[in-house]
Amino acid sequence: MEKVLKKARAFAKNFRVEDGDKFRLKDFDPNETLGLKHEEGIKDRAADLLQQGVDVLADMQEKLYAQDRWGLLLIFQAMDAAGKDGAIKHVMSGVNPQGCQVFNFKAPSAEELDHDFLWRSGKCLPERGRIGIFNRSYYEEVLVVRVHRELLAKQKLPPQLVTKKIWKERFDDINAYERYLTRNGIAVRKFFLNVSRDEQKKRFLERLETPDKNWKFSVADAQERGHWDDYMDAYEDMIRHTATDYAPWYVVPADNKWFSRLVVAGGIIEALDGLNLAFPEVDEAKRKELAAARAMLEGET
Ligand code: ATP
Ligand code: MG
Repeated sequence: MEKVLKKARAFAKNFRVEDGDKFRLKDFDPNETLGLKHEEGIKDRAADLLQQGVDVLADMQEKLYAQDRWGLLLIFQAMDAAGKDGAIKHVMSGVNPQGCQVFNFKAPSAEELDHDFLWRSGKCLPERGRIGIFNRSYYEEVLVVRVHRELLAKQKLPPQLVTKKIWKERFDDINAYERYLTRNGIAVRKFFLNVSRDEQKKRFLERLETPDKNWKFSVADAQERGHWDDYMDAYEDMIRHTATDYAPWYVVPADNKWFSRLVVAGGIIEALDGLNLAFPEVDEAKRKELAAARAMLEGET
């Protein structure tokens, strides 16, 4: 376990951003694999490694649940076809489904647009002892809404509140929200699956060419590629303003799925490891209770 922990930390460290000021997206290569070579059998070896990580994660989650003090919120953001769904599925494959919940955030409904932008997240936050996953999140409010200004117009904000400062104000509000959650025992970790434009094209073509993948293809997703540079600018600015020591971003190289899953697993393990998880201590009164129960069971005929 200690060995896996060390490896997980080493993996995660390379891609963790907790001080946004110095962050530049161009310093992060979507094709990075930390020296693991694309040679024959690498996918199998990566799968073995991931399995070790998943086992450790399952172990830690059990403690998180038993201890019932911390909750962990994991946020996933990415361009389409970056592999969010697959990463969530593979990395969380070993954890007890009772301790974990996934929410997908889509375009807001009419009811949601009648509220402040964080409103819909509140009811989806993880309880203590649980891991909550946001597949997309309130970060869309500074991504898609920034790239497509017409979405902002639909948000029914009082006009005098919509100024040039609105994105900076949203970053501030998000930071305050995440600090509030952290101070309440809900730890927050954020993952940006950083796929390259070329790799996305390859994956879209694969969806078109493979009948079993046709269902995943959406013309709208392909059209969004036209705004690629605007999205990258929005992602960079978002990370620059919202990467903090209490709620870091992981900028995960996502051109190789086998590698991105290792980094995601590493980040989650690192986060749980930082929470001082342990099974609750049994006190004297409880120990007596257990001894009495044991005597009763043994006395049965
Ligand atoms: P899949 O990988 O299955 O396509 P998805 O997360 O892309 O999953 P979709 O239903 O295709 O799910 O897309 C959700 C859409 O909702 C995205 O285009 C996203 O930009 C949009 N969306 C999410 N949150 C907001 C928001 N707050 N405001 C506007 N649009 C949003
Ligand atoms: Mg989609």
